[in-house]
Amino acid sequence: MYLKDSKTIVVKIGSSLLINDKKIIRDKWLSEFSKDVKKLQRLKKNLIIVSSGAIALGCKKLKLNKKNLKLDKSQAVASVGQIELMNLFKKTFGSKKINLSQILLTLEDTEQRRRAINAKRTFENLFNLGFVPVVNENDSIATTEIKYGDNDRLASRVAQISGADCLILLSDVNGLYSKNPKIDKNAKLIKEIKNIDEKIEQIATRSIGEHGTGGMKTKIDAAKICQISGCHMAIANGLINRPIQNILDNNLCTWFLPKISKLDARKKWIISSISPKGQLIIDDGALNALKNGKSLLAAGIKEVKGQFNKGDHIKILDKNMVEFARGLSSFTSDEISIIKGKHSNKISNLLGYISKSEVIHKDDMVKV
Ligand code: GLU
Repeated sequence: MYLKDSKTIVVKIGSSLLINDKKIIRDKWLSEFSKDVKKLQRLKKNLIIVSSGAIALGCKKLKLNKKNLKLDKSQAVASVGQIELMNLFKKTFGSKKINLSQILLTLEDTEQRRRAINAKRTFENLFNLGFVPVVNENDSIATTEIKYGDNDRLASRVAQISGADCLILLSDVNGLYSKNPKIDKNAKLIKEIKNIDEKIEQIATRSIGEHGTGGMKTKIDAAKICQISGCHMAIANGLINRPIQNILDNNLCTWFLPKISKLDARKKWIISSISPKGQLIIDDGALNALKNGKSLLAAGIKEVKGQFNKGDHIKILDKNMVEFARGLSSFTSDEISIIKGKHSNKISNLLGYISKSEVIHKDDMVKV
């Protein structure tokens, strides 16, 4: 089963799961959901929660109606509501001894390679610390033109960046049905989708989705991002108690299957950027280390060519100028000129600030 086999899991919960139409907070649901989180932790999964609700809870606190909000006001409302949201999580999850952290992202953070790499490292460090990151869009900063606006697509990007194996979008329906289940008795839940063809797109457009910002359309967009990221995605009913346990027990949901493997997706992402901006020439010791799957350290770098920034795509050549690999640099070319040939523990002194020790992390490298 896809969920059982996944190591890193992203779960997206919409506002309507946290607060009902009458603006009453669904404490009981969140408390049941926290049991699901505890269970995933016991199964040694890495978990990220993408949660909406900042605007809805901000409106509740300020006694405003969400429908009449203008963008600039909604940004202030989100700023008020985000604390309410995290307090709600903290209160509920704290009683189960689940440690939480908060990450607010903008569209640019997820689209720009350098920021995305940083976000990936932060997620990894939080997993190692045993914390569950709770992610939302930074609604107080994002403007209409550069905004996701819905957490379905944001969640799929988070899944892509964090290298998640599966994303679960908790909705108010069991998944995607062949016909409208509310009016057609013959409607069947589609259990697995390999190809998002025209027929699926049409079903999604007609579907009665959740009341949140997205509806089914943004869920399909999210599925497309997951498919090319090597990530499984499920649309499942979140309105019931213990929705994750329910997927584990009954698998009552719609799964979208990835088109390529996670590894191929990552490699593609690394080398998909505009042509390499520079080159690093390395010594035999470093070459051997890379052949053994290690990261590239400054000590093994003989020469740096070209001008590039952190996160840029560069080539790694051996001493005979034969290309061995490509990767994303954790340092600028100017910084590498200063630290090349030096031991990692000298880097902070040489640059004047504390920094990573790998010049190219093994996860950011593809052998050619
Ligand atoms: N980021 C928004 C919030 O927290 C919600 C976006 C959505 O509904 O998907 O209120």
